[in-house]
Amino acid sequence: MYCRNIIDNRTYSIKNLKRFKITVTGIVQGVGFRPFVYREAVKRNLDGYVRNSTKGVEIEVEGSSTSVNDLVDTITNHFPPNARVDNLSIDEIDCNGDSNFNILHSIKKKESVTFITPDLATCNDCIQELFDLDNRRYEYPFINCTNCGPRFSIIKELPYDRQYTTMDEFQYCSLCSDEYHDPHDRRYHAEPIACDTCGPKVSLIDSSGQILADNENSFYISRNLLLKGKIIAVKGLGGFHLACDAKNDETVQSLRKRKNRPHKPMAIMCANLSTVYKYFEISPREVDELTSSKRPILLLKLRNNPSGTGKTLSQFLAPNHSFIGVMLPYTPLHHLLFENGIPEALVMTSGNQTDEPIIKENSDALVALRDIADAFLIHDRPIQNRCDDSVGYIDGERTVLLRRSKGYAPLPIYSIKKTRPILALGSMLNNVFALSKGNQIFLSQHIGNVNNLKTLDFLKKTIYKFIDWFDIEPEIIVHDLHPDLLTTHLANNLSKNCTGFGVQHHFAHLASIIAANNIKEKVQGLVLDGTGWGPDGSIWGGELLVGSEDSFKRVGHMKYLPLPGGEASIKKPIRIAAAYLKTLFPESLDFPLEIWNHLSPYEREIIFKMVDNNFNTPMTSSAGRLFDAVASILGVRHEISYEGQAAIELEQLAYKNGSHQNYKLQFDLFEEDGMFIFDPKSLLANLVEQLTKDTDKAALAHQFHISFGSILAKASGIIYQRGGPKYVALCGGVFQNRLLTNITSEKLKEQNLIPILPGIIPVNDAGISLGQILIANSAFFHNPKNSQSDY
Ligand code: ZN
Ligand code: ZN
Ligand code: FE
Repeated sequence: MYCRNIIDNRTYSIKNLKRFKITVTGIVQGVGFRPFVYREAVKRNLDGYVRNSTKGVEIEVEGSSTSVNDLVDTITNHFPPNARVDNLSIDEIDCNGDSNFNILHSIKKKESVTFITPDLATCNDCIQELFDLDNRRYEYPFINCTNCGPRFSIIKELPYDRQYTTMDEFQYCSLCSDEYHDPHDRRYHAEPIACDTCGPKVSLIDSSGQILADNENSFYISRNLLLKGKIIAVKGLGGFHLACDAKNDETVQSLRKRKNRPHKPMAIMCANLSTVYKYFEISPREVDELTSSKRPILLLKLRNNPSGTGKTLSQFLAPNHSFIGVMLPYTPLHHLLFENGIPEALVMTSGNQTDEPIIKENSDALVALRDIADAFLIHDRPIQNRCDDSVGYIDGERTVLLRRSKGYAPLPIYSIKKTRPILALGSMLNNVFALSKGNQIFLSQHIGNVNNLKTLDFLKKTIYKFIDWFDIEPEIIVHDLHPDLLTTHLANNLSKNCTGFGVQHHFAHLASIIAANNIKEKVQGLVLDGTGWGPDGSIWGGELLVGSEDSFKRVGHMKYLPLPGGEASIKKPIRIAAAYLKTLFPESLDFPLEIWNHLSPYEREIIFKMVDNNFNTPMTSSAGRLFDAVASILGVRHEISYEGQAAIELEQLAYKNGSHQNYKLQFDLFEEDGMFIFDPKSLLANLVEQLTKDTDKAALAHQFHISFGSILAKASGIIYQRGGPKYVALCGGVFQNRLLTNITSEKLKEQNLIPILPGIIPVNDAGISLGQILIANSAFFHNPKNSQSDY
């Protein structure tokens, strides 16, 4: 072993000089990890190097064991704010006589899986500089540092180095270069480092491509346009947003009209926290989440009486909703749009056409959004990877995500069991795919509804990127059992060289929540959603399952009811209501119910004929459809313009219940051949009866939630008493409904059952692919007899 002579001011003797190789994995790239290691190593007089590798960060240090131990302790416990250390391994190796400590270029070789750091919101140090007149980056819209700025959205290849990002088009100037190479500067190795001299630029253009303003003038003019009621397409971090003044009724209505989005709630971006406080009731947990580097859209409760004076938020942001999606600025460009807190809040809705992916190219925006936006605030830093905003809410201490994307993706989920290389394509709606290897399951960003070729193309391209980045060659490709989904066809095409495997939709929902919560034992699963392919030829969607990721048994379901016209009827809850009433409570056809005024005699006759003759009328056990029917019977919504609208509005109506009278709605539970059947016959009869008595509809909506939650919990209670599992998972898209979740959870706890509630992995179809991975892994590698056929 070669060891160099000790010189300098070292205090230890030659025999104590040792060299170690340290490998750190976790979120260690693009978060200032190398400069941090550099500073800590130099502080301790250690020699050697640090560099990014495809594994994570590789460090070699030479010095005394005490100093190395001390360094390891610091790396493990005091890493930079956005980093996360998952594993650290140390091996002693031969000394080689380094005489200083360096940051080396990354090694680019395919070894093992590493992480891609999500985009990080602009940090406070950078915001301060952004508005400091004396700073050389004053009002520079791409200011960033090792603690903040774009990451995932600009990455082309790994490892994370400027030359492998879309910043490769910009050569840094000498001042930026000095900062980049100075280990004591907070921009040391900040890969997207840039300034007004060398970096990307913004401009404001009109829909014909004419330049309206350059650089900082763009912001001044944009603000003026926004305050005058104009709509601007803004190129953000992961794609375009459409922005307009959130306090201007006329503008918000005009955006709805131009985007052909009559009702779907629109998220807003508030200038700062004080604006959020002014309009919303907000808890300390919500403040933490809103101001985190992830900056998700959080559903916040509107104040009844906003503090302060002046115009309030537009009533058209989310008509009849008590909650609105709110986020805070997360790029310097956003901060500049809100300079001095004006405007107070902007609508920030994704810039796309219905069901198509969020737009990322300037040229595409000019074509696709030309009839929507009055102007375009664009820039010349390309977006490599689209990434929509994440959406969620806080319930007590729980963060519940409805969409896991910016700030989270593509960080992996850890599974207890090791998995083989598997690709799972998820479902058609809210698609997110998953790719796994070892204990890591990489979930993609939000892909969208895979019901059109553009989204399918986005899905395909992103799959290939993931396979390349994480160097995982899938051995199995999993798809939903539904044979007609574009995702199923894609799986069939992709699986030519490996094994394809179909997994039942609700089983995947159940496995997903089991995996997200690391549950090791059998559970009951109340899986409530809209539509899923049932192995018996019907449409499932209100299921009580018992099982684990290895297998499941269906022990209960909603009563099968007719769906006249099949999936097409989902857009018209009134048809479902008519079919359900006809089937369960035909006397109601003669009652003077409001619903009958909204259905033409002709339409009514057709629906009834379809039901009677069983023509193009599949049977469904869907819980989502029961919500639709009840929403229509109560007059809440007869026809929808976005997914889940009727159910969402029914929940919102329930929150308006001020009455304490108890209108009992009887939800029946039967047992047929060992199968629990949730039968809404009495419930609909009670509902109609109350309506004829003019009972308050908000009270009925609320009571419906109580009846439903209670009957679900009752069935689980019986199963538990008969020796079934104590854990009850609440999953499927219907459990995005907070009221139903909380009622069911309370009723379960009253019987000493343990509810497993929605969390960071969405319980809607965005979580399906995680469950698919676990099920396929179990079938092929733990219980091979299950892999003989789809299930
Ligand atoms: Zn920063
Ligand atoms: Zn520069
Ligand atoms: Fe589903």
